[in-house]
Amino acid sequence: MVDVTYSYDAPVSQSLFDRASAVTPGGVNSPVRAFRGVGGTPRFMVSGAGPYLTDADGREYVDLVCSWGPMILGHAHPEVLAAVRDAVGRGTSFGTPGTDEVALAEEIVARIAPVEQVRLVSSGTEATMSAIRLARGFTGRAKIVKFAGCYHGHVDALLAAAGSGVATLGLPDTPGVTGAQTGDTLVLPYNDLDAVRAAFAAHPGEIACVITEASPGNMGVVPPLDGFNEGLRDACRADGALYVSDEVMTGFRVSSQGWYGIDGVTPDLMTFGKVMGGGFPAAAFGGRRDVMAQLAPTGPVYQAGTLSGNPVATAAGVTQLRLLDEAAYAAVDSASRQLRALVTEALGKEGVAHRVQAAGNMFSVFFTEGPVTDYDGARAQESFRFTPFFHSMLAQGVYLPPSAFEAWFVSAAHDERALERIADALPAAARAAAEAVV
Ligand SMILES: *Cc1c(COP(=O)(O)O)cnc(C)c1O
Repeated sequence: MVDVTYSYDAPVSQSLFDRASAVTPGGVNSPVRAFRGVGGTPRFMVSGAGPYLTDADGREYVDLVCSWGPMILGHAHPEVLAAVRDAVGRGTSFGTPGTDEVALAEEIVARIAPVEQVRLVSSGTEATMSAIRLARGFTGRAKIVKFAGCYHGHVDALLAAAGSGVATLGLPDTPGVTGAQTGDTLVLPYNDLDAVRAAFAAHPGEIACVITEASPGNMGVVPPLDGFNEGLRDACRADGALYVSDEVMTGFRVSSQGWYGIDGVTPDLMTFGKVMGGGFPAAAFGGRRDVMAQLAPTGPVYQAGTLSGNPVATAAGVTQLRLLDEAAYAAVDSASRQLRALVTEALGKEGVAHRVQAAGNMFSVFFTEGPVTDYDGARAQESFRFTPFFHSMLAQGVYLPPSAFEAWFVSAAHDERALERIADALPAAARAAAEAVV
């Protein structure tokens, strides 16, 4: 049996958590880190190297969160660190244009054909917020369409039936967001083109944009069905709305061009974050030149940021992107493929109903026969099986996302040794999942 108290083998983390809880709501600066979805003591990490994290109690874990995506080359990659040290030595923020932000923008534009121009910001939330404002400014329309289970950061207008932390906490919405802020947001079921066509039929000429995760990863990994993204693009074009593809999670991760490199559907605007910052706060939105030209200072749509294009963040980001060559993506893909096979084998042996869904090298494990094609399907899984599974893995030194509704992330540094440690931990965790009771 798995120890259901979970809390007693991380005394230093627990004391840090107690201190943190006194001065920070829930002891964390982003809700999922608090382990509310699984219980127990959140591990306070003090260092990372390659595929491993070390916590304040001195225990090492194979990391399958990778900072929720950014650390695609593994932790403390020597060349990224060297670029950061070099940048820091020249000063940390100027409030003027700088050199590495030009290089990072060029790198993004060179990789992703639909991005003719790009603007850098500091978080994925800022990127989607700005893209929505720009879409409304460009079209002169108010309404936006989003999909249930898609998460686009904590933008007020987009916190309606969001995935990620909100799904984990089971909140349908959040206090503090007013009806006025979500009143122009239409929330539709994911993968349902009929619902999209009906929304355009009900509100012709009123919808500024449809925003979607290029391939959703915030309700677990739920890829678009064949033709769904094309259908979105066509519905938008037919009505004069913009198609906004949120690649904050998938961008530069699932291929050198992100999900766009896999399905080739051309959006009007795209958003990026996570991988492009190399572990620093850097994100971006970009797309059609005529749309981007509406942004200040060339156009009337205001958008700004004191630390936008920060020299240290852009140095880390551009260095990480340049290191992400074919070999790096092949290593990430291979680690993902092997890990998916290991999980399937372990859960299968214990007779646990499960479905491993992948979008390129991103994947998640649903405790259901599946397939999962939308948010209702994701929520219908037996998520109570995830809790003992998670804690068994944690106790054996494997750090999974602390929620049944999150993608698992691997890096190019997840080598054979790291995979072996996961393989060794999986049988007991699978047994714990099989023995789980509601
Ligand atoms: C993580 C994420 C965001 C928000 O990015 P932050 O940097 O956390 O603000 C937006 N969209 C998607 C698809 C994401 O995965």
